[in-house]
Amino acid sequence: MDSHTLFISDLHLEENAPTITATFLHFLQHMAPHADALYILGDFFETWIGDDDHSMFHDHITTSLCQLARTGMPIYFIAGNRDFLISHAFAKRAGIALLRDETVIDLYGQPVLLMHGDSLCTLDLKHQAYRKKVLTPWVQKLFLMMPLRWRRKIAQQLRNKSKHHHLVMPHDITDVTLEAVVRVMEAHHVSLLVHGHTHRPAIHEITLNNGLGQRIVLGAWHQAGSVLVYRRD
Ligand code: MN
Repeated sequence: MDSHTLFISDLHLEENAPTITATFLHFLQHMAPHADALYILGDFFETWIGDDDHSMFHDHITTSLCQLARTGMPIYFIAGNRDFLISHAFAKRAGIALLRDETVIDLYGQPVLLMHGDSLCTLDLKHQAYRKKVLTPWVQKLFLMMPLRWRRKIAQQLRNKSKHHHLVMPHDITDVTLEAVVRVMEAHHVSLLVHGHTHRPAIHEITLNNGLGQRIVLGAWHQAGSVLVYRRD
């Protein structure tokens, strides 16, 4: 295939979902090496309670990413609302580069805005309140100071409480609002936005102030692998 870049998100990798893990490892070995770059746009892991949480599972994924990175493949990562605690230690071990949510990249000459996407779901007030809380630096700092044992316990409690945890169908996740999409695309002066989170893979035409734009939504991996292949041409 000609020059192309790959985008994935919402794999929700976890130890007790071995089929998804196997699909991802297959993708890393057979599809990803032919690309110019790989972008992971959040909710790569189902949960992440700190870079110091070394399980065999986490180490396997980290090593696999690193093997690809060592071949010279650039791998970029934006954290999602489930793995927002991913930080520099993980990035270093995996050989990936962390990008902040709302990053504009140059994709074969075109500016493209990349996001996880949860911040666009402005009607999901409960999630926005949660988001505000967990993205507060001192809250994260306090949480990360706790022993791993406590963090596991808290994460488990949050998972039990979260209605969304076992719900993976799109209609269980609030969709983005058009207002939020237009606002962020115009703020960054882009006509192409790529994001995940909603589990509603699609390509939408957007009317912006200065013409037409596109919003590409990546798919989740619960049923099958899902990859955006963006070709130079
Ligand atoms: Mn998400």
